[in-house]
Amino acid sequence: MRSPSEELKQLDELALRRSLKWVDSESYASSRHIDLDGRKIINFASNDYLGLSQHPSLKQAMIEGVQRWGVGSSASRLITGSSIAHRALEDFIAEKKHCQAALTFSTGYATAVGSVSALVGKGDTIILDKLAHASLIDGARLSGATIRVFPHNGLEKLERLLDGSVRNLGRTLVIIESVYSMDGDVAELEKIIELKNKYGALLLVDEAHGLGIYGEQGLGLSEHLNCSDKIDIQMGTLSKSAGVAGGYIASSQDIIDLVVNKARSFIYSTAPSAAQAHTALAALRLIISEEGKELRSSLWKNISYLTEKMECEAQSAIIPWHVGSSEDALTVSNRLLKEGLYTPAIRYPTVPKNTARLRITLTADHRQEEIDLLLNKMINLKS
Ligand SMILES: *Cc1c(COP(=O)(O)O)cnc(C)c1O
Repeated sequence: MRSPSEELKQLDELALRRSLKWVDSESYASSRHIDLDGRKIINFASNDYLGLSQHPSLKQAMIEGVQRWGVGSSASRLITGSSIAHRALEDFIAEKKHCQAALTFSTGYATAVGSVSALVGKGDTIILDKLAHASLIDGARLSGATIRVFPHNGLEKLERLLDGSVRNLGRTLVIIESVYSMDGDVAELEKIIELKNKYGALLLVDEAHGLGIYGEQGLGLSEHLNCSDKIDIQMGTLSKSAGVAGGYIASSQDIIDLVVNKARSFIYSTAPSAAQAHTALAALRLIISEEGKELRSSLWKNISYLTEKMECEAQSAIIPWHVGSSEDALTVSNRLLKEGLYTPAIRYPTVPKNTARLRITLTADHRQEEIDLLLNKMINLKS
């Protein structure tokens, strides 16, 4: 029998072993700086794209929420865990997403696993983009539905799979992201909507990295392309641009009711605190406000600045720097860390084998001189 230590050794040999990085700041002043091993590091690894996790008015909302409702929710949502704070958050999401109803979960991960496995089951088919997030894949596996995968944004294969699956009696659910979490590129959303309509399939779009970034109000790629009402299930997280925690789906009342009845991560888990819901609502209100718009514009300015200098293009705040092997990615990432820059190496199994990369993420808070520093150090490593 293989021992745990042998398994760890094997991960070490493949440069695939992971370990926790302890951020040792006594207090945070911003999301773009972290203290690691006693040193101040510029953080190019945050998903807090608008810097909202540190926003004074959201801190205030959390404190207010705790004072009104306490620190915990005491039971699952179906027992006594549903408060007026959850209600207000879900009503707001449903309205902004042009849907009949919305439902929130403790995390985006719980949202994906619970919703996907509630919406389809044995005899149904899930058709997934190859680069879909682990949480969506886990939900698909848990569901017991037949899983089919198409190459990233590969419309021809998607159409063939749709054509094959709609002959079955079961439901067909197509699952994509709006902005892909490791490549930072966007879905062929309008074309995929056309296809799913042609074959009468359901479409779930995960806006984890689109919310706060895209659209006049920052509601995501669906807002930007004006197609919210054509997506059957809109999903997202409240932990990235929104800076708090939690996940949501927005859809028809029937679909939301079905998920309430069947999603195990919703039913068998204590409700997120009312304070969390209250803060997430304040964060969404901020995202759609004039201030949110200004933060978005600073973020996009930073993205343009970096990509022009790198002579590459970016469709989001995620800019991958492809390195190749896991070993090289680790070496480059460690060298940059020595220079005070945190750009984590993303390796298999998060991304396919031999596509290891540094995943650079920008936020609205980054200063131009910090981006210049990153560029200089990257150029030095290349030569
Ligand atoms: C981060 C992420 C999730 C999970 O969200 P959490 O709130 O972090 O649990 C789901 N889907 C995608 C695409 C993500 O990037």
